[in-house]
Parts: sequence; C-alpha cells; structure tokens
Amino acid sequence: MKYLYAGDADFQHQSFLELRPIAVWTQLLGEVSWLASLLLAHTHRQIDLANALLVSLIMLAGTLLSLNAGHRHTLLLGMLLNLCGLALGFRLSMLFVTDTSLWATSIAVCITLTMAPVFQSSYSFLLASCCVWGILLQGTLEDRRLWQQDSLIALLTVATLASGLTLNILFRRLRLRGYHLRRDLEALAFQDALTGIDNRRSLLEKLQAWYPAQHGHFLMVDIDDFKSVNDDFGHEAGDQVLQQIARKLSGHPDVALCGRLGGEEFGLFTRLLDSQRVSELAAQLIQRVNTCSVEQRRLSISIGIVQMDGRIGLSAALRQADNALYQAKRRGKNGFVLAPSSPPPPQPHPLAQAG
Ligand code: GH3
Ligand code: MG
Ligand code: MG
Repeated sequence: MKYLYAGDADFQHQSFLELRPIAVWTQLLGEVSWLASLLLAHTHRQIDLANALLVSLIMLAGTLLSLNAGHRHTLLLGMLLNLCGLALGFRLSMLFVTDTSLWATSIAVCITLTMAPVFQSSYSFLLASCCVWGILLQGTLEDRRLWQQDSLIALLTVATLASGLTLNILFRRLRLRGYHLRRDLEALAFQDALTGIDNRRSLLEKLQAWYPAQHGHFLMVDIDDFKSVNDDFGHEAGDQVLQQIARKLSGHPDVALCGRLGGEEFGLFTRLLDSQRVSELAAQLIQRVNTCSVEQRRLSISIGIVQMDGRIGLSAALRQADNALYQAKRRGKNGFVLAPSSPPPPQPHPLAQAG
C-alpha cells in the first residue's frame, strides 16, 4: 500500500504545480497525433466532420480546464475530459482502418504509457486508463483477424496497465524524493540546527519582508554569563540551555518571530505596539527564563528593545536594539531596556513648499 501513497497535502500541491504544465503539453501532443492520424486517413476516405469537431472540442475543453486548474482535482477533471475526447477521436479514425482491434489496442497502449507519469495518484491513473481502454476497445474486439485469442488481448491489457502503474509509482517516488530533499535543504538553510528555530538569515529575511508594512517591536535577547555555563558544566549543558531558552522565548503567544542571531543571542519580533505592553512581555520572558536552571544555577537573560514603527530602517533598528541590550547588561543584567523612540521625521519648511 505504501507504493500507492500519494504524499501529504503539501507534496500533493507541489506535485500539482509541477505536473500541470506537463499535463497540458502531453494533452497537446495527443491532440496533434490525433489530428495527424485523421489527416493521413483523409486521403483514403471522407472524414465525419461533425463528430471530429465535437471530439476536438471535448479535448480542447479538457486542455483549457487543465491549463487554468487551481486545484489538483480540477486538473484531474481536465485530464479525464481530454483523454476521453482523445479516445473518442481515435475511435473516429478507426473507421478508416481494416483491423480495428489492432488499431484500438495499439492506441490504448500508447495513451496509457504516455500519460502514466503525469497522474498524481495511481487511483486516478487507473480510472483514466479504464476510461481510455473502455472507449477504444468497446465493440472493436469482434474483428479478430490478428487477435485470434481473447487471452492475448487480456494479457496485453494487463501488461500495459501494470507497466503504466509501475511508471506512475516510479515517477511519484522520484518526485517525493526530490520534495524531501528540497525540504531538508530548506531546513538546513533557514533553520538553526541546534534549537530548531529560525536562523539569522531566515529571521532577517522574514523581518525584511514584513517591515515596514507591519509595525511592532524588536527584542534582542542575550543569555547572561553563558560562557560560565560552558566553563562550569560543559559545552553539552550549554547546548541544552540554548535549546531550553529558545523554547521559552518562541513559545510566548505574543512573539510573532523568534530566531537565533548567533551564539547565545536571539532576535524576537512582536506585533505589540504599546510600549507598556512590550515592557510586560519583556518582563514575562525574563521570568520564564528565570524558572530554568542548570545544576541549581538560575538562568537569566538581558533584553534590548526597539520600536519598529516604520520611521527607522531595519539595520538602524538592530543597532539601536543592540545598544539597548548593552545598557541592560551595564545595569546589572536580568533586565530590559527600551531604546528611546526616534523623533518624527522633520516637516518640510513652508517656504520650501511655496518655492
Ligand atoms: P554576558 O552576560 O556579558 O553576555 O556574558 P556571556 O558569558 O554570556 O557572553 P560571552 O560573549 O563572553 O560568551 C558567549 C559564549 O557563548 C562563548 C561561546 O563559547 C558560547 N557559545 C556560542 N555559541 C555556542 C553554542 O552553540 N553552544 C554552546 N554550548 N556555547 C556557545
Ligand atoms: Mg553575546
Ligand atoms: Mg551573553
């Protein structure tokens, strides 16, 4: 059953985005092949124009639906519509051949194997195959000049479906492997390996994307006397302290972003605008950390806070938070300092406006 596993919702959405253009191209390829077969046959006999137009409209509707699909279910519907149209189209060209069972079986084999990798799930592939084989073979098997034995046709059908299913599973597993690889690489590039929270790059990128559209406060947090934790209890204990404090900081409901800036420094962003409420948040974070200890030694942090109200740039905000953090350390640690908010931008002189 694990071979039929279609992946989680995110993988299925990624697959849908990857497969949509391939599905559209495959459908166009099928339509062109059908047109070519019709034109070749036309040299021998008159084409049933009304029906040819009808099936080409069905195929086109399927392709357009697939092209504009916003969800994998819509894509599947488009593909089914197109394949049914294609199978009906090839049934039309069947009127020009003498051996219909050979023609129908060959076309069914070609369609099944070509479309196998494009279906997201094996169930949808099997459903589409049944539609194609049903339409193409229905009523054509009486003509058995080549296929004298039913068992031969049954064998070919089963072998084609099995090969298509294998192709479908192999391609899905390939996509699944690529998806997991990409996720692992993203985690390596944007996640701090020790604490699991955002790393510096990810935190700053997110801040850059949010600010200045979103206002709030930035908090720069530094663990107090962390070097002595390493020195007295070992580097492993120090690592555990980092993990513990990262959980305490990122777990607070008012903290919208939390990342490790490097070493024992963390950066936090809160959407709280009121400086009183931000002070309460800082006090709560300090209290949370004070409940942690290593070998009976209580842990503490110092925090520098800066208002991010769109009046200063990101790098200036980080500099001011760093200065405020330095002040908090100088005042005896285990506390916070709110950087003075920057003055409003100077108003243009009335004379300058008049000029
Ligand atoms: P202060 O209160 O002034 O901040 O002093 P401090 O000892 O916390 O700061 P200092 O800059 O002197 O030391 C920081 C230490 O953090 C030094 C470094 O070995 C340690 N450190 C940095 N990254 C890691 C890490 O990933 N794991 C561990 N265990 N220690 C780390
Ligand atoms: Mg430090
Ligand atoms: Mg420190």
